[in-house]
Amino acid sequence: MPYQRTIKHEINFSGIGLHIGKRVNLTLKPAPPNTGIIFRRIDLPHSQPTRAILANITDGTLATTIGNNGTGVNTIEHLLAALTGLGIDNIIVELDAPEIPILDGSAVQFVNFLRAARVKYQTVLKRFVVIKKPIVVSCDDKYIEAFPSDRFIIEYTIEFDHPIIGMQSLKWEFSYKSFIKDICSARTFCLREDVEKLRANGFAQGGSLENAVVVDKNGILNKEGLRFPDEFVRHKILDLIGDLSLLGHPIVGYIKAYKSGHKLNHQFLRTLLNQFEKWELSEIVHSNKQWKFQKAFQSPFLSLPYDQ
Ligand SMILES: [Zn+2]
Repeated sequence: MPYQRTIKHEINFSGIGLHIGKRVNLTLKPAPPNTGIIFRRIDLPHSQPTRAILANITDGTLATTIGNNGTGVNTIEHLLAALTGLGIDNIIVELDAPEIPILDGSAVQFVNFLRAARVKYQTVLKRFVVIKKPIVVSCDDKYIEAFPSDRFIIEYTIEFDHPIIGMQSLKWEFSYKSFIKDICSARTFCLREDVEKLRANGFAQGGSLENAVVVDKNGILNKEGLRFPDEFVRHKILDLIGDLSLLGHPIVGYIKAYKSGHKLNHQFLRTLLNQFEKWELSEIVHSNKQWKFQKAFQSPFLSLPYDQ
C-alpha cells in the first residue's frame, strides 16, 4: 500500500545559492500526514510558511520560485525532485536566505541528506493525480502532452542548435530505485556565453564548474566530463519531476515533453488543474497486479493542513 512518507529525523546542511552567491543554511524537519512540502524563511521573522503548490509559484524564468518577492524561495526544483524521487510527501524546509543551495547542480546530495535523515512511513495513504484523458499544452514548437497510464513515465526530447548538446531523447519510467541510479545525479547545464550574460546581469554569482556542466562549441569545460552520455536530457527530466510535484501529489500518467522549460512546465500544470474532467485524485491500491483506484473526497488545493 502506498502510504505517505516523511523523514525520521531533522537534518541540517548548507551550500551556496547559485544566483546570490552566498552560503544558505537549511533544516529539513519531519511533518504530519497531508502537510505537503512547506518552505519557511527563518531569516524573515514575519514571513508566512509557503506550501510548494502551483498557486504559490511566482516565477519560472531561470528556475522555479515560490512565494512573494522579498520573502520567496528560488531554485526549489531540484530539492522537490529529490523529495518526489524518494516518495516523501510531508516535510518542512527552513532556510535563512531566498534561495535553495545549488550544491553540485543535481539532486544527488539532497537525496543523500534525505536518506541520512531516514524515510519514515506514515499511516495515511498517498493520493495521486491520475490522468484520465489526454492533456496538451504548447508554445511555439515546444509542447507537453499527458496520457493515461497506470505508471509514471516521462518521455523527454531536447533539441539545441549546439554541436555538443544537439538532440537527446529519453523515455524513463519512475521508480525510486531508477530515480536514484539514473536521474538524481544529472547536473544542470548552460552555455559558456549564457553564464557570462547572467553574471553581467547579477545572476549566477555562485555559479562554477563545481555546480553546472558548462559547454562551449568545442566541448565540455568540466574536466571530469559528463556523468551520463545523455546527462542533459536526464537533467531536464529531473527538472520536470520537480515541477510536476507542484500538483501537491505524485502524478500517474505518461508525460511527453519536447523542448520544455520551467515556464511551460508551470503552464502545463495550470492547464491540467483547470481541466477537471481529465484527471482525478485517487488513492491507488496495488493488489493482484492490478491497479485499483479509490476516489478520494478531499481536494489537495482547498486546504493547507499545516500546524505551526
Ligand atoms: Zn535544473
